[in-house]
Amino acid sequence: MSLKNNIQDALKLFKIRFMNRKIPLITTLAVTLRCNANCIYCDASNLNDSEEMSLDEIKDCISSFASMGARKIGLAGGEPLLRKDIGEIVSYCKMHNLLVTMSTNGFLVPKKLDEIRYVDLLIVSLDGEEEIHDRLRGKGSHKKAIDAIEAAKEADMKVWTETVITKNNINSLDYILDKAYEMKFMTIYEPVERFLFFDDKLDDLVPSPEELRNFSLKLRNAKKNKRNVAVSNSFLDVMDKWPHYPKIKCWAGIGYGIILSDGKVIPCVEKLNHSKEFLNGREVGFKKAFYEMPDFSCEGCFRNCYNEYNAFMNLKTEAVINSLKNMK
Ligand code: SF4
Ligand code: SF4
Repeated sequence: MSLKNNIQDALKLFKIRFMNRKIPLITTLAVTLRCNANCIYCDASNLNDSEEMSLDEIKDCISSFASMGARKIGLAGGEPLLRKDIGEIVSYCKMHNLLVTMSTNGFLVPKKLDEIRYVDLLIVSLDGEEEIHDRLRGKGSHKKAIDAIEAAKEADMKVWTETVITKNNINSLDYILDKAYEMKFMTIYEPVERFLFFDDKLDDLVPSPEELRNFSLKLRNAKKNKRNVAVSNSFLDVMDKWPHYPKIKCWAGIGYGIILSDGKVIPCVEKLNHSKEFLNGREVGFKKAFYEMPDFSCEGCFRNCYNEYNAFMNLKTEAVINSLKNMK
């Protein structure tokens, strides 16, 4: 990252933090809700996504967010690689000087590598050993995830994995960290609690508070031992205290937000239940949809990414350092 970008980012953060300005510094763009996997804790593959934005609408969205001050854009889904025009979407983001991350199950990474080569950070789902990962994410999906990581590393891409923590893989941390060391990637973790769309059907998968505290302790030790863990202590503090989230100042809808695949602009995925209340950028323009987003803010949640964003915007030292490192 150039010094000029560094200074611009610091200035934007200052305006968000101290001048009450709305700047979507970190933006997530769900380019589709379609998915070619069928993970047991997610219902994306059953959703009807007839309202998906066209390439022109997505370009309008990207240029509008870039002009409002977006610096980092996370391409997500569903499975973003299912879009035939994903290469053009990535190139369009790069044309606007955006840092691009992409979250993927990895299935199509080897096939689409040329189109996504300039993604700054590829985040591949990895839930544990082959048998455990396949039980959670479908037969053959572990091999596809590992093949994706291998292909991306060979292409010199920066890779992280994201693990959804469930009762089934709560003991898979050593496996994941060994793989991370062997294949040279960093790891992040997202508890399954209230994962996509399935709130009431997850009971058998949700770890107990005690299991999560133990997991958090292992992550702290792994960090102390310089293993490949990219979550900050602010998030581990939440995991320690779950289900009683520590109160925080949240910047959803102010310093970050999500654009859904149908063009709706919402503050965070936890507010999907209120999606009727939010404006659609396709109808009113993306700037209006972001600037006039209704306030549904609350004081804490269990999502890793939002806790990292909030810790960054609340100027927690470790999260700021991590964010700057990750913006390289
Ligand atoms: S968790 Fe991701 S890969 Fe799995 S079904 Fe949902 S969107 Fe697809
Ligand atoms: S605390 Fe979490 S759920 Fe609440 S508004 Fe912020 S990001 Fe959304």
